[in-house]
Amino acid sequence: MNRDPALEAILEAAEQQANAGAAQQVHARLRGVTRVYPAAAGAQPVHALGPVDLDLQRGEFFSVVGPSGCGKSTLLDVLAGLARATDGTVEFEGKPVAGAVPDGVGVVFQQDASFPWLSVYDNAAFGLRRAGVDEAEIRRRVDHALSFMGLRGFAQSYPAQLSGGMRQRLCIARTLVTRPRLILLDEPFGALDQQTRLLMGDELLKLWRETGATVLLITHALDEAAMLSDRVGVMSARPGVFLDVVSTGWSRDRDSNIVSDEGFGRITARLWSTLRAESQKSLAFGQSAGAQ
Ligand code: ADP
Ligand code: MG
Repeated sequence: MNRDPALEAILEAAEQQANAGAAQQVHARLRGVTRVYPAAAGAQPVHALGPVDLDLQRGEFFSVVGPSGCGKSTLLDVLAGLARATDGTVEFEGKPVAGAVPDGVGVVFQQDASFPWLSVYDNAAFGLRRAGVDEAEIRRRVDHALSFMGLRGFAQSYPAQLSGGMRQRLCIARTLVTRPRLILLDEPFGALDQQTRLLMGDELLKLWRETGATVLLITHALDEAAMLSDRVGVMSARPGVFLDVVSTGWSRDRDSNIVSDEGFGRITARLWSTLRAESQKSLAFGQSAGAQ
């Protein structure tokens, strides 16, 4: 069938525009990403991750759960530019990531990374001072980040005077001052008690909503992943690959009250049914490795 060339041109332009729109939505893209740690003296190389394909959509909240040692932190390090992929490609905002944390990416780690000898204010200002940002701008950003994380009244306190939850809020504030568009968190609430964890989850949701940032959260807590995320990726035992990606369908203005929603139980159960066999594998591997 011969089609009108003018119509053809219009259809082609529309398709190109749709493709461009779709491409714009992808904030970070991993293709065929693997990471193998080279052999240390007397040991075999460790194939920690992949191959993994993942598209993080701009503004989404994506969590990763998986058995201990499956390569979750390795995935985050590669995405953050802290470690190189052995194979495959990583892109953030359409540019390749390798060798350095790209501008616009902020990382929050599990361990309390605050400097005990600096005040809360100076901890939050540390990265900006090193980057040579002027003091007036630092004050604006630090005041905002500390207020946002409920730490304004503690600006002159020292980390030792804060509770565990407040110290973790400080670590998030330190990342926030850099105005990240992609926030990567590696088990940030792992050391906190259950109630504090749920409340920190609410804080994280508020931050996500108000900054519009894309969030990638690594957690070992299935309830945390089910409650916070738009999508949850479930990883296999090492080398970690995605076995399942679960969309939760939550509305954007959710909070920890969602744990009483019947859908919450369904999602958590689905995560666990995939994870159970994988966790058994890592446990069995750990036991046999330990027995050698
Ligand atoms: P997770 O965060 O899921 O617990 P990791 O990404 O930290 O897992 O580690 C994945 C695997 O890679 C583990 O078996 C771990 O022992 C191994 N591993 C991590 N870092 C190194 C390293 N620097 N050298 C060798 N092996 C490593
Ligand atoms: Mg880890």
